[in-house]
Amino acid sequence: MPEQNHSYANMLKVLDACAEKLGVCWDDYVPLRYPERELTVSIPVEMDDGHVKVFTGYRVQHSSVRGPCKGGLRYSSDVDLDEVRTLAALMTWKCAVVNIPYGGAKGGVQCDPTKLSSQELMRITRRYTAMILPLIGPEKDIPAPDVNTNAQIMGWIMDTYSAFKGFTVPGVVTGKPVEIGGSLGREDATGRGVLFTINQIALKKGIDLNKASFAVQGFGKVGEAIARLLYQEGYRVVAISDISGGIYKEDGLDILDLSNYVKKNPSHLIEGYKAEGISSLANQELLTLGVDILVPSARENQITEDNAGDIKAKIIVEAANGPTTPEADQILNEKGITVVPDILSNAGGVVVSYLEWVQNIQYLMWDEKKVNSFLQEIMERSFQEVWEFHEQNKVPMREAAYMLALDRTIKARKIRGNFP
Ligand code: NAD
Repeated sequence: MPEQNHSYANMLKVLDACAEKLGVCWDDYVPLRYPERELTVSIPVEMDDGHVKVFTGYRVQHSSVRGPCKGGLRYSSDVDLDEVRTLAALMTWKCAVVNIPYGGAKGGVQCDPTKLSSQELMRITRRYTAMILPLIGPEKDIPAPDVNTNAQIMGWIMDTYSAFKGFTVPGVVTGKPVEIGGSLGREDATGRGVLFTINQIALKKGIDLNKASFAVQGFGKVGEAIARLLYQEGYRVVAISDISGGIYKEDGLDILDLSNYVKKNPSHLIEGYKAEGISSLANQELLTLGVDILVPSARENQITEDNAGDIKAKIIVEAANGPTTPEADQILNEKGITVVPDILSNAGGVVVSYLEWVQNIQYLMWDEKKVNSFLQEIMERSFQEVWEFHEQNKVPMREAAYMLALDRTIKARKIRGNFP
């Protein structure tokens, strides 16, 4: 049962408190505490050395109340059902916060991509797709990239699904390469959405971004895009870290130079990067730097009750999913640190995934300006709605976002009614 598991249980704690504050009827709310459907698959794959290895994969659909299920796919050795289930639920709330017509899902395969060749990754992806085939489809459940998956992997999913169907189905997956129906603007979408969110919270809090300092944890698809977009706006990113460690420069890092280095470095990590005036930094140090805005963009559970008391940033804009534990959240609230929650601030990825899907199912092709302008409109409107909920109900922004999402999802459920 979901209640016994750790990260899903944490999510339920937040959700239950928000449902109570909203004053919703338990019978209307209780179905949303449970994922609708969960699938665990075994993925036998022939490795390059000729041996067969069996990987475990998951696809969880948390809710289809507001539309087809939508959510990323991650490859990681520590992926488990509880994590995937939690991330699937987060997708339900995220899609509801930004008011796009989707429910929530998530997928994962337990593997270490750093130890796999490109051919092995392809075989895992194709077999995983075949195993979850009955669940996915443009009108049912649409995967997208997440930790350690990318546009190429989405391309393999699209090709495998299409091969089974007998015709090309671009709308089965988003975050694809543009050559096969991916949307312009999708690669930077999560980062660009975070940038729009930062602009909005700075306006509300009276922060002059031209004078502000930023620290970004994680330099993958999301973290790199955020740091680069902030740099291109002329803002000062003083610290960056990834799994290999961190770097710091008081008057701001040259993010384009760092991005180029990481692209060329065979490990795609920042380790070994050298530039004038930079010093190295441990990951934990980055989180507790005295910056104006901290942007965790790596993994979940990075800000915990152990380090929350030491956080000095004025504002935390969550770009990763679930970087702050509920215990840490309480400490940050008491300290008066504003946390802009993941389900709002990192929704840019799913918003442009939605725009990609809309183009796919109608065989349209939009230019990047149009995509970015839709993204900006949706992010700014959503921020404003959460902000109003936060002010009117005198609750932290995370609770406001959850309350708004719950309200929308419960209303949709009530209209649809119970079946049978
Ligand atoms: P990614 O695999 O491309 O990058 C992850 C980055 O985090 C890498 O730079 C990695 O080295 C770093 N990292 C991992 N553990 C770390 C640690 N302990 N300390 C410092 N850095 C560490 O993944 P991504 O797609 O950029 O996703 C990052 C986060 O954003 C995840 O929580 C993901 O669920 C979330 N997210 C991703 C998207 C998307 O569109 N890709 C959308 C919304 C949310």
